[in-house]
Amino acid sequence: MEKTICPKKAGCSLFAEVDLLSALIRNIETFYCKRSFEKCARYKLYQEGKPVPPKLLPHDKECLQCEIKGCK
Ligand code: SF4
Repeated sequence: MEKTICPKKAGCSLFAEVDLLSALIRNIETFYCKRSFEKCARYKLYQEGKPVPPKLLPHDKECLQCEIKGCK
């Protein structure tokens, strides 16, 4: 059965605002955005109407190595 892609994918600030390693992007897309977005910590906050920290990763930990784009 085909899974639905996360409805937040187009506007998810994790991809738009944060410099992520391409390998990390692929893993997040494969395991969360395309398969089980309901488990994503970001998605849960979006659903609750709460602020989503830009560097929050789907497993509910902030990315310590990531930079906000344009803030070097
Ligand atoms: S990171 Fe989470 S909220 Fe963002 S598009 Fe992927 S599943 Fe959705």
